[in-house]
Amino acid sequence: MKFNTKVIHGNQSHEPSTGAVMVPIFQTSTYVQQSPGKNKGYEYSRGENPTRTALENAFASIENAKHGLAFGSGLAATDCVMRIFNPNDHIIAGDDLYGGSYRMFTKLFAKYGLKFTFVDMNNPENVEKAITKDTKLIWLETPTNPLLKVTDILAITQIAKKHNLMTAVDNTFATPYLQNPLDLDADIVMHSATKYIGGHSDIVMGALMINDDKLHQELKFVQFAAGAIAGPMDSFLALRGIKTLSVRMQRHCENGKKIASFLDKHDKVETVYYPGLESHPNHEVAKKQMNDFGGMISFRLKDKSQATTFKMLESFKVFTLAESLGGVESLVNHPATMTHASIPEPERMKLGITDSLTRLSVGIEDVDDLIGDLEQVLSMI
Ligand SMILES: *Cc1c(COP(=O)(O)O)cnc(C)c1O
Repeated sequence: MKFNTKVIHGNQSHEPSTGAVMVPIFQTSTYVQQSPGKNKGYEYSRGENPTRTALENAFASIENAKHGLAFGSGLAATDCVMRIFNPNDHIIAGDDLYGGSYRMFTKLFAKYGLKFTFVDMNNPENVEKAITKDTKLIWLETPTNPLLKVTDILAITQIAKKHNLMTAVDNTFATPYLQNPLDLDADIVMHSATKYIGGHSDIVMGALMINDDKLHQELKFVQFAAGAIAGPMDSFLALRGIKTLSVRMQRHCENGKKIASFLDKHDKVETVYYPGLESHPNHEVAKKQMNDFGGMISFRLKDKSQATTFKMLESFKVFTLAESLGGVESLVNHPATMTHASIPEPERMKLGITDSLTRLSVGIEDVDDLIGDLEQVLSMI
């Protein structure tokens, strides 16, 4: 089955008891038992809920995985992965992570004895050099947020295999439309389904996709024991979102390319970060592992003052100034003071998340209106 079909039919079917074409919202916490322990496969909704099960099956299908798990947020999914490790286990992560992942690793799990090393994964050698006798996992995100760095997934999973380590990939920015890390030998794929998978800025949700049965059991146990599950209503909305993931992504990519090239030529813009531009330092890797280049773009103004960037950000009429990304509507964000404010300033400066950096989540509106809006805000500064 091809991806365009999978999003609509993959591991999905009508609801068996009624024939309802869309799986209904099973808004229930518990299920009747004929006698103690004798039931229809459902006992309590932290363990299993039919709407969530339908979603978890669809999650598995779109990432070419055997198993899927749905959580109350992307970070809850990441939290689940971290909980399978023990004190003193060492994890190597990319140095340009989603701010909330960085905060969870350094502020929550470091306290419980997990050890983290953050490296620039643009050069896979950095990963190999960071491996110690306690290393258990490589955590990578590609393309990264907000600088759109692209890591060669296969180069990393080859290093992981050689040293008997697991690899987990945060695939939120790319979506399964653009790349499938499990096909490149990753062990776990994580998504903030809040973003492109949900696609309508109306849910907060996370996903894990896994092939290995034993690893799935371990993660499912944590999901049940720690309890950070996705609810039935949100599961329904995510199922609905998945059906249009393919067509939405097609438009996000088309619009993204046009806007990146518009910004690239604009004389008030210093740098555009978009893996689809030939000038992007990782363009070749992106071409190799991604089917297209997505709708996330960051750019830096020539004028470095915060006041100038803020003036621009306050002038948008079509783009909405807001956190998050991946919805049908275009959003604009100031990473240094919004999404990435939790990263300590010296770290941020080192990474290049400065006041002149702006991030766009290009939506699926008419691209002429989006470019018109950018033209308009850039003329204000
Ligand atoms: C938003 C995001 C997360 C966190 O997901 P939530 O659903 O907000 O908990 C993790 N990784 C990336 C790349 C994200 O953009």
